[in-house]
Amino acid sequence: MEAAPSIGLHCPHPERIRTPDSACESVRAAVNAIIGSDGGTGGVSEAERRAIQLANFSNWEHEDARLLVYMRQMYIDVGLVERLPIDEDKLLAFLLKIYAGYNQVPFHNFRHCFMVTQMTYSIIWLGNLHAICSDSELVALLTAAVCHDLDHPGLSNYYQRLAATKIASSYSASPLESHHAATALAVLSDPACDILASLTAETRSGVEGAIQRLILATDMAHHADILAEFEAAVEAGQFSRQDLSDCSADSRELLLRIVLKTADVSNEARPVATAERWIDCLLAEFFAEARLEQESGISPLPFMNPALVRKAVSQQQFIGGIVLPLSRALARVLPRTETDIVQPVKRQLEFYTRLVEDEEREAAASLSRIDADEDNSGAGQA
Ligand SMILES: [Zn+2]
Repeated sequence: MEAAPSIGLHCPHPERIRTPDSACESVRAAVNAIIGSDGGTGGVSEAERRAIQLANFSNWEHEDARLLVYMRQMYIDVGLVERLPIDEDKLLAFLLKIYAGYNQVPFHNFRHCFMVTQMTYSIIWLGNLHAICSDSELVALLTAAVCHDLDHPGLSNYYQRLAATKIASSYSASPLESHHAATALAVLSDPACDILASLTAETRSGVEGAIQRLILATDMAHHADILAEFEAAVEAGQFSRQDLSDCSADSRELLLRIVLKTADVSNEARPVATAERWIDCLLAEFFAEARLEQESGISPLPFMNPALVRKAVSQQQFIGGIVLPLSRALARVLPRTETDIVQPVKRQLEFYTRLVEDEEREAAASLSRIDADEDNSGAGQA
């Protein structure tokens, strides 16, 4: 089949956005210094270990090396290093390769990977998933979170298809998500980074399949279908037992998809001071894409178009339409997420609803001031 025309769009050269080797080297040195700084604790205090379990954690006051050390601690504290087991050298090499595999783009970068992993980790504790799920399911979930936007070029599936990029021509469905999943499996296939090396071939193939399916579920194009499937499963009583012990493997994986999807859009469950900076990062990435499209005479998607986006309104719509229904659905099965995720999301929705109302009042007031000024100047000319 002939490739679709690229209509003048092109992706920035990968080298321009890649995390430079020098940055990776200094992060490696800093990580080793943190881990080695503190006999036996891995450089993470008890207070920090508790803090990274909380849904209101903020990345902004920590450097990348510290965040990597926290991610390493998550694999340890959830019990995977001991029980799977995972070789600690391979875990560190894996995480450093992941660090190098995220690009320097405004939003879909290593810090977003950290925040999604951290919220996934927080939901594991809130939902007691380490007791409910098998180690294979847990390692698939945590690793899918770590890898879910690997090598993201900062340009959406819409752009990939329009520009007929290599990523779009490699995958017919969910091009970016398919690319993230394939990149994840490529990292795991490096023996030095293979955190799944202790698994049998059969278990490993199951874990790799779950990682792929979980990452593919983060494509927002399938959001409504996945949420509807989950809500139907809840209605059908598939998660009715308190300990979820009678869930089928398919039902549990559906639950894990909802966990990862919730974590992926969970900035709005964080305190406003943390979340606002993330919104600005996302809009910077959207607007940069919109500029590239407009330069080629293509209309950007409305939610990316700087001429159409009003931050408070888009937040109100995104939280009300996506984040709140998703987190409410999750809380029906994992009730402890109600206080730590649903309630903060509701507060954010109220915050932006008030902001929209204030902006509308202000706009109406300034319109009536203009009318009054025109009347006055008209009177002066008469
Ligand atoms: Zn993401």
